[in-house]
Amino acid sequence: MTNNAQPEEGKRSLNFIEQFVEEDLANGKNDGRIHTRFPPEPNGYLHIGHAKAICLDFGIAERYNGKCNLRFDDTNPSKEEVEYIDSIKADIHWLGFDWEDREFYASDYFGKLYDFATELIKRGLAYIDDQPASLISEQKGTPNKPGIESPYRNRSVEESLDLFRRMNEGEFEEGSRVLRAKVDMTSSNMHKRDPIIYRIMKCAHHRTGDTWKVYPMYDFAHGQSDYFEGVTHSLCTLEFEVHRPLYDWFIDQLKEGDYRPRQIEFNRLNLTYTVMSKRKLLQLVQTGQVLGWDDPRMPSLSGLRRRGYTPASIRNFVDMIGYTKYEAMNDVGLLEFAVREDLNKTATRVMGVLRPLKLILTNYPEGQEEQLETVNNPEDENAGTRLLPFGRELYIEQDDFMEDAPKKFFRLSPGNEVRLKSAYIIKCEDFVKDPKTGEITEVHCTYDPLTKSGSGESRKVKGTLHWVSAKHAIDAEVRLYDRLFVDEEPDGHKDKDFTEFLNPESLERLSNCKLEPSLANAKVEDRFQFTRLGYFCLDSKDSKPGNLVFNRTVPLKDSWGKGNR
Ligand code: ATP
Ligand code: MG
Repeated sequence: MTNNAQPEEGKRSLNFIEQFVEEDLANGKNDGRIHTRFPPEPNGYLHIGHAKAICLDFGIAERYNGKCNLRFDDTNPSKEEVEYIDSIKADIHWLGFDWEDREFYASDYFGKLYDFATELIKRGLAYIDDQPASLISEQKGTPNKPGIESPYRNRSVEESLDLFRRMNEGEFEEGSRVLRAKVDMTSSNMHKRDPIIYRIMKCAHHRTGDTWKVYPMYDFAHGQSDYFEGVTHSLCTLEFEVHRPLYDWFIDQLKEGDYRPRQIEFNRLNLTYTVMSKRKLLQLVQTGQVLGWDDPRMPSLSGLRRRGYTPASIRNFVDMIGYTKYEAMNDVGLLEFAVREDLNKTATRVMGVLRPLKLILTNYPEGQEEQLETVNNPEDENAGTRLLPFGRELYIEQDDFMEDAPKKFFRLSPGNEVRLKSAYIIKCEDFVKDPKTGEITEVHCTYDPLTKSGSGESRKVKGTLHWVSAKHAIDAEVRLYDRLFVDEEPDGHKDKDFTEFLNPESLERLSNCKLEPSLANAKVEDRFQFTRLGYFCLDSKDSKPGNLVFNRTVPLKDSWGKGNR
């Protein structure tokens, strides 16, 4: 775990990236202009790792009166889909950020990049290599052993120009030729050993259609796109640190004045008990291990949203873990802490019974009902109160009753007293048991009318239970989630595939839940705390009026894996 410090709001000290930015501002770099970008590849949905990059890119722009572009790095037409572009935009907006009119695509620069590649050939700084990619890779050498120069390295400028043009006209097969930058086959940086910068792909692009038959490699597009957009600070994850000398080399060939983007790398967000790569998440979706990108068990932003996470809780979590220069694992418990902390302030307290057991108050007059006042949110004075219907027949949780209770069982058992929340003290007098199955089917209690909540009359009882009135309860399905994987780092095993660690019990669907009637009017954006059970919200996809489905966002306490789901 990197950093569990929880800074007080607004009092956080500058992170190292903000320090660099302030240094640049103090030195008058770029005329005081601050311009960042968030550059997703549209080959999957965004996950919470991306949220860390988004908060930084847009956050720096906000803090220093700058701008942040959204740029889709769409250089690989074979893996990209419009569905992903739409979802990425929706997720960024949901997190609370906006790129205004600056929605760009690396494909906007295909023309400029092609011209730049041509210019490199003309200057003797790039050449067409006719060898297959596998051989090129073998000739690269190792960090301790210099690479071998390609036999095509010194072919004439005219020949390379001609071949590059014909590659783009579709004359050659995919994989038959590539364009390589002529940098240095002996460089200690492997990325500078004549990297491939263009390849043939006979594949329609979602934006440029069939215009191009050659496509730039990511490394040839990324840094230059930042340059074309006037980006001052290119913030990216640590794995790009070793690419930086190559990006700098390209910009050296391209730039005219003093301006160049400054790349600063930071550590990735990695969460325990999940995987974070889009490729692996896509695999889970495609093999049906989860029910889509927005499955509430996924670490995708759409999954977390459907699960009930709030944008504020994700932003706060990103703030808590901070930005460093070394990779680490972040404890998912801290993310759950952040969502509880946020929901505690805003969620309406309600009552719902997940596994109902009938409770009859034998001394409560038949046919009588009353409305009991209850507080909507003790954390928020302005949240007010509402009325709960109460009557002779109620539901409580099955596991709130025990026939032979151990001493420390502070719930209901024969002869015992408990309080029903916002109602009365009751005493268990009897119970009914199915003679065949041994299942408890009814609990019979008496209530003490003098102990109504708020009346001032009370006595000490050890437990308080939640309940709903049987006559007024509404039916609902409730979905409980456990971790998607049983291992802390499912993709951290050399000899085992991450899918071997999938948790077969990550989803539990309870279809016979009884909820207080006010929940019939719940809206997707509403957040609830079900007393004693956790935070819940409507499932945005499957819930319908009259057929309600609730998701548990998170239990009240950190009780994962303790049989307390
Ligand atoms: P993945 O490995 O999950 O496929 P990626 O890095 O290929 O992710 P991109 O779409 O290229 O995904 O990422 C867009 C931006 O988000 C990049 O700047 C990248 O550095 C950043 N990013 C991706 N994953 C994380 C993460 N786990 N933590 C922080 N930033 C991330
Ligand atoms: Mg990537």
